[in-house]
Amino acid sequence: THFGFETVPEAEKEARVGKVFSSVASSYDTMNDLMSLGIHRLWKDHFVRSLNPGSRAASQDQAWSILDIAGGTGDIAFRMLDHATNVNGDNLTKVTISDINPDMLEEGKKRSLQTPYANSGRIDFKVGNAEKLGFVADNSIDLYTVAFGIRNFTDKDVALREAFRVLKPGGVFACLEFSHVDSSLFNAFYKRWSFGAIPLIGQVVAGDRDSYQYLVESIERFPTQKEFKAMIQKAGFVTPGVGYENLTGGIAAIHKGIKP
Ligand code: SAM
Repeated sequence: THFGFETVPEAEKEARVGKVFSSVASSYDTMNDLMSLGIHRLWKDHFVRSLNPGSRAASQDQAWSILDIAGGTGDIAFRMLDHATNVNGDNLTKVTISDINPDMLEEGKKRSLQTPYANSGRIDFKVGNAEKLGFVADNSIDLYTVAFGIRNFTDKDVALREAFRVLKPGGVFACLEFSHVDSSLFNAFYKRWSFGAIPLIGQVVAGDRDSYQYLVESIERFPTQKEFKAMIQKAGFVTPGVGYENLTGGIAAIHKGIKP
């Protein structure tokens, strides 16, 4: 059942990734909840809290300019604006949600109507590829976030260099992504769950086994925590402390880098 993705030409790989997310856009939340037993919500909450967006936004020129890449349906962006507003009393921080897939962004726009931010001027949506952020100026962003996105990028090093380019000096790159479990006992259970149950849930709930099989395999192929940290450093970032934080035993991890 292996896709043999390594041998697939890049253009076709991009098309496949596009198709995977177009076919899951509507059932996206249900699937995330089922596959992660709801835990992805806790990871996202923790991710946003750890970034503390809007923490120094006393005036317009101190408001954060945030770029949420692979922002999909807005899950991370809405949480960041909630945090800035409710925790830091900041009504100025702005988020640009960018995604390569217009269907995901459309779903995000629809959802934004249920938030206080719909006509606030604090969110905008841009269709775009993380590897070519031509619509974002150099040194213009305070915080770049990417959650469960970079795993799907064709050239992660190029995307990391683009992140570095658009961030201001002192700006933060933050990534939440599936990663690698550190205990072999826990890993045995986890592998059973991901390779056994997830494609099956995909088949039953979304009517699409292959897309979810692909997702599981893409997690397996993603670099380890230490390898990914080295890639972030190679792009020019400084990685504070250990450089990453494992969530739920390493099922997911948060990586951060600062542009010097
Ligand atoms: N960040 C959201 C979240 O955490 O719920 C969405 C994550 S979703 C699993 C992955 C997203 O990455 C999809 O919306 C997909 O369209 C987007 N994506 C894949 N390749 C991309 C690329 N090269 N540039 C920008 N977005 C991309």
